[in-house]
Amino acid sequence: MDFQWSESQDELYRRALELAQRHFAGASRVWADHAFDRTHWDICAEFGLMGLCVPEAYGGLGLDALTTARVVEAFGRGCEDVGLVFSAAAHLFAAVMPIVEYGDEALKAALLPGLARGAAIGANAITEGEAGSDAFALRTEARRDGEVYVLDGAKSYVTNGPVADEFVVYATMNRKHGYLGITAFVVARDTPGLRLGEPLAKMGLKSSPACSLYLEGCRVPASRRLGREGQGGAIFQASMQWERSCLFAGYVGMLERQLAQTVEYARTRRQGGKPIGKHQAVAHRLVEMKLRLEAARLLLYRACWLRDRGQPAVAEVSLAKLAISEAARQSSLDAIQLHGGIGFAADYNVEHMLRDSVPATLFSGTSEIQRDLVAREMGL
Ligand SMILES: Cc1cc2nc3c(=O)[nH]c(=O)nc-3n(C[C@H](O)[C@H](O)[C@H](O)COP(=O)(O)OP(=O)(O)OC[C@H]3O[C@@H](n4cnc5c(N)ncnc54)[C@H](O)[C@@H]3O)c2cc1C
Repeated sequence: MDFQWSESQDELYRRALELAQRHFAGASRVWADHAFDRTHWDICAEFGLMGLCVPEAYGGLGLDALTTARVVEAFGRGCEDVGLVFSAAAHLFAAVMPIVEYGDEALKAALLPGLARGAAIGANAITEGEAGSDAFALRTEARRDGEVYVLDGAKSYVTNGPVADEFVVYATMNRKHGYLGITAFVVARDTPGLRLGEPLAKMGLKSSPACSLYLEGCRVPASRRLGREGQGGAIFQASMQWERSCLFAGYVGMLERQLAQTVEYARTRRQGGKPIGKHQAVAHRLVEMKLRLEAARLLLYRACWLRDRGQPAVAEVSLAKLAISEAARQSSLDAIQLHGGIGFAADYNVEHMLRDSVPATLFSGTSEIQRDLVAREMGL
């Protein structure tokens, strides 16, 4: 077992952290309630964030999962705009990677260079009004008509939807076949029959825009199908293995920043004649925050390490996702408690981390669904 990063991994981490801190941090700025800003996206794209694990042949950095996670972690630590990191990661792991892994050569050559360098933005659309946790119960239909597929249905919570150029959409060709009836397509924004809803108002992740997506007789060329007919369920699951590990690395970075900020506050804020950190109840709460962070981080690294070796990692990935998202939510509450009144004040960079963390236990499969996946892997 080797816990040492290579020099090139360290260098990438350092550069990513420095860039994120330079552009997206600073006590004088409150990042939490920013709207999506394309110039911010472009700064991250220039670094290579939008194509970290895309092969170099298609304009990405060609990184493995572990190094990808480490770089996303650096952005999460340095960038106080959690929504920006979330949007970039949703683009890369749930829209771009399915094209890398299941697109045919012509589709990859046409789409990946733009997506990998962030010139084009990707989104993924599986969730529907009646198909959330039970995603494979989706009703959006695809029917073949010569050289096109005709898609009809409605999708909800499409992250990046309002600004996306390409949508990875999951539709059923035969509802009776459930999981095996689903097929995945890449639908261009300007395809006739594709319509976007109003941007969704959310409690957190404000700079990550989301909306509903409507498909009404939307004719998608057969060349834009990912994988085979009926392979969509497997494609979605593969994308979730990326997302549940590498996207959540951003929250590991956020937890590290939050802990450093809270320790610093506990060392300098004095009550009862001494720094509040000298009160054992405060110090112990900070140790609990550190324990949650370090345990979640090790679960994440191990999950990525297994994936890079091509080993099954369903339980490990779900455990990492569960630990990170639950840690983010609990430690964000603890950070507010330890900051007292200013933890609640909106112009101080503490409360938004709770608002940005609450959805982490919902998207990419809720905590209940992660527990189900682990239980199944345990033979239950
Ligand atoms: C910020 C954000 C971004 C998102 N981005 C996208 C996106 O880009 N693309 C996309 O397609 N979707 C996206 N989603 C949707 C997300 O994947 C769903 O919200 C999620 O899967 C839960 O589905 P639901 O909201 O319908 O809740 P439901 O499935 O209705 O769940 C409600 C509650 O019931 C529980 N529950 C449901 N089934 C079970 C079960 N079998 N056992 C135990 N408990 C259960 C859940 O855990 C939850 O607590 C996003 C959501 C959020 C919040």
